[in-house]
Amino acid sequence: MSNKILVVEDSRAFRNYLYQQLSSNGYEVAMAESIEEAELILAHDTDFLCAVLDYCLPDGQDGEIIDLVLSHKHKVIVLTAMFNDDVRESVLAKGVLDYILKDSMASVSYLLPLIKRITNNKNHKALVVDDSSVVRRYVVQLLEHQYIQTVQAVDGEEALSILQNDPDITFVVTDHDMPKKDGISMIRDIRVHHDRHQLAILGLSGSDDRTMTARFLKAGANDFLYKPFNQEEFFCRIHQLLDMKEASNELFRLANEDSLTGLWNRRFLFNQSCKGCENRNVAMMDIDFFKKVNDTYGHDGGDRVLVEVSKIIKEFFKDEVTVRFGGEEFCIQSCKPLDEFITVLEAMRQAIEDAEISHGDTTIKVTISIGVTGAKATLNEQIKEADDRLYVAKGNGRNQTVSQ
Ligand code: GH3
Ligand code: MG
Ligand code: MG
Repeated sequence: MSNKILVVEDSRAFRNYLYQQLSSNGYEVAMAESIEEAELILAHDTDFLCAVLDYCLPDGQDGEIIDLVLSHKHKVIVLTAMFNDDVRESVLAKGVLDYILKDSMASVSYLLPLIKRITNNKNHKALVVDDSSVVRRYVVQLLEHQYIQTVQAVDGEEALSILQNDPDITFVVTDHDMPKKDGISMIRDIRVHHDRHQLAILGLSGSDDRTMTARFLKAGANDFLYKPFNQEEFFCRIHQLLDMKEASNELFRLANEDSLTGLWNRRFLFNQSCKGCENRNVAMMDIDFFKKVNDTYGHDGGDRVLVEVSKIIKEFFKDEVTVRFGGEEFCIQSCKPLDEFITVLEAMRQAIEDAEISHGDTTIKVTISIGVTGAKATLNEQIKEADDRLYVAKGNGRNQTVSQ
């Protein structure tokens, strides 16, 4: 999907300001100062993330540019210096993404987060739950208009089963009154396994009951709106919901990921909610003579080795919990059968031994020692046993796997 934005704006100062702001944020910008120029661009360029359009242009002072760009099936954000209800209503009715009051350069401070939101929306998938197909279709159309993928369910029961089978769903928009299972009791069920940050929920209800907001929020919804809702408010709530979700995901990542290697950190290993599987095996690993790598190639060279070794670990164990345990020590937690786990560990050890890690104009070679345990015990006990075996591997000459 394109990251190109069409800007049509006749004020040179504002146009340049938009260009500078958008391009410094990584967007490609095509610029026009009139409808005529915009037509030329649209004739040969068809791939835009969205268009930012000035409502009033020299060759069309009444929003004509909006119809032109919409007729090319592009998403539109309108900049307008005129703010009255008629203009606002007519602009929104055309099906634009949003409009921004152009009262100062500072109004762009709303534009950039909006464009970023629309870009990130492509990573989201909404489950829309409503027994009314009309409401479902309306909500789906609103969300898809903003590049959000959707799936639908007709009641709480169907929604729960869809959720169980589709890990890509990032948020739920749900009605309350539905046959089989209502929205509020569905939310309670969802919250047993997914917290507010993992799966955001927006409640909607057409009920007259004024306690509905509190009931939804107490059941675990992130937000609530009465139906019928104002479209603009709906988008504000969705944007806020997704901004919050992304911010908390980012916090989680910062707290649990090792910043040098991108592997999980120790905190994650000990805090993960799903520590158990039928058959949890643990490997502890340590790079051999790593101090010498630092002494020979400098700390930079050492870091480079840590990064490359981590890449190999991740390559061999995509679906397992791979952790930088400390300095040059790593831990893998696997639910595979023990013999299969050891086979892959050996292949990984060999790949590390074979790797030529380039650093400046030299290459660095390292090996790794591994201790494995499959014993059924607590995670701490397993780590201790795997660590003991790792030191047996070191004592036996390094570059090997010890599993008993
Ligand atoms: P052995 O084969 O017995 O494991 O010997 P070793 O030299 O690998 O082990 P030792 O524990 O003596 O040295 C580990 C070194 O790792 C010491 C420390 O300075 C270095 N180290 C720890 N963290 C980092 C890091 O983030 N970057 C770099 N470059 N070095 C690190
Ligand atoms: Mg070491
Ligand atoms: Mg060490």
